[in-house]
Amino acid sequence: MEQGLENLRNEVFRRNPGESEFHQAVTEVFEALGPVVNRHPEYVESGILRRMCEPERQIIFRVPWVDDNGSVQINRGFRVEFNSALGPYKGGLRFHPSVYLGIIKFLGFEQIFKNALTGMPIGGGKGGSDFNPAGRSDAEIMRFCQSFMTELYRHIGEYTDVPAGDIGVGSREIGYLFGQYKRITNRFESGVLTGKGMSWGGSLVRPEATGYGAVMFADQMLRTQGQSMDGQTVIVSGSGNVALNAIAKSQQLGATAITASDSSGYVVDEAGIDLDLLREIKEVQRGRIAEYAEQRGGNARFVADGSVWDVPGTVALPSATQNELDDKAAQILIKNGLVAVAEGANMPSTQKATELFIEAGVLFGPGKAANAGGVATSALEMQQNASRDTWSFEYTHDKLEQIMTDLHDRCLETADRYGAPGNYVVGANIAGFVKVADAMLA
Ligand code: GLU
Repeated sequence: MEQGLENLRNEVFRRNPGESEFHQAVTEVFEALGPVVNRHPEYVESGILRRMCEPERQIIFRVPWVDDNGSVQINRGFRVEFNSALGPYKGGLRFHPSVYLGIIKFLGFEQIFKNALTGMPIGGGKGGSDFNPAGRSDAEIMRFCQSFMTELYRHIGEYTDVPAGDIGVGSREIGYLFGQYKRITNRFESGVLTGKGMSWGGSLVRPEATGYGAVMFADQMLRTQGQSMDGQTVIVSGSGNVALNAIAKSQQLGATAITASDSSGYVVDEAGIDLDLLREIKEVQRGRIAEYAEQRGGNARFVADGSVWDVPGTVALPSATQNELDDKAAQILIKNGLVAVAEGANMPSTQKATELFIEAGVLFGPGKAANAGGVATSALEMQQNASRDTWSFEYTHDKLEQIMTDLHDRCLETADRYGAPGNYVVGANIAGFVKVADAMLA
């Protein structure tokens, strides 16, 4: 790492002790920025990068709620409003027991550059809670969301900060959150949240957008080498919204997606995942992945221990969570003939795994580029809300496709211009950074 950057990175570490995921996200960006600060030392000298690493505002709050037994439960809520140079803060809410300030800051930091890359007028932010939705009743989820919004509402707004979903937050939770916002403020302010239901201001294609976009990005990368998604064998991790839609788009483009996973293990189905069955088990019944293999029969099998990355394939779409794909997994995938990785999740590959992929010549689309289709379609939802319009599926899908193609090309051109041809990590980070830095300087 370039000396000025390393000094600054060490300062960021000292100012934010114990936040390993945030440190990792900052390191990834700084590693990629070498060529740009060599050419433009003013970015470091002006202090713009130092400013970028400090969130504009960090909100931490108590979330009290009553469970079904009548006991009061307490969780911690977060909203980190990281950067508003390009537009209102924009980014999801994550409800997961692992959530603490370091996770929200890593996600918020990533979001700044991802949102810039989409070309849409949105800043970066993220929020969530250490609330664990697993095993909670619908009524408990509702009461938690209402309590969460009872504090959050004063910090957000269509021109201020626009949350959406992330892990543990889907259309059900957005509904409870929006209902409470509407009730407290007495405003039908549809642009305050995205990922809404279709009958009350949501956008078609938003539910599919992250997974679809990741596969479109993989397809674009493959096309630079005279290939496409057609005929690929795809290894997908996760079985949430991103994974399900990554499997769907892979199938539409002629590939065979053969795996899915959750925290209990993974399934392999060489005939190709039966999407309707997987959706029924994970989205309707909210069951475990093992049930897929039981109900599907044939050669489909469930593996409780080991790693989904042991399964041979040509395209990997890590779509579960951060640091789910380490150097050992990367080595196995490379040995098994992997051609491309597109990250559906945020920072699913460790830094070592990323380096191994790039050294081995595997096409590697980092999350802030490959999974930007979700937030980009959130911005399309905001456009529709602002104009009180509703677009068709085809129209919105075409827009998403165009955004992903432009984003891919921008990463590639930027990487080329800064002497790292074919390196999407360098391209994505520099293109996102320069756009935000120039706006801040202006
Ligand atoms: N949580 C998603 C992400 O990581 C989407 C955020 C949004 O739509 O605002 O980009």
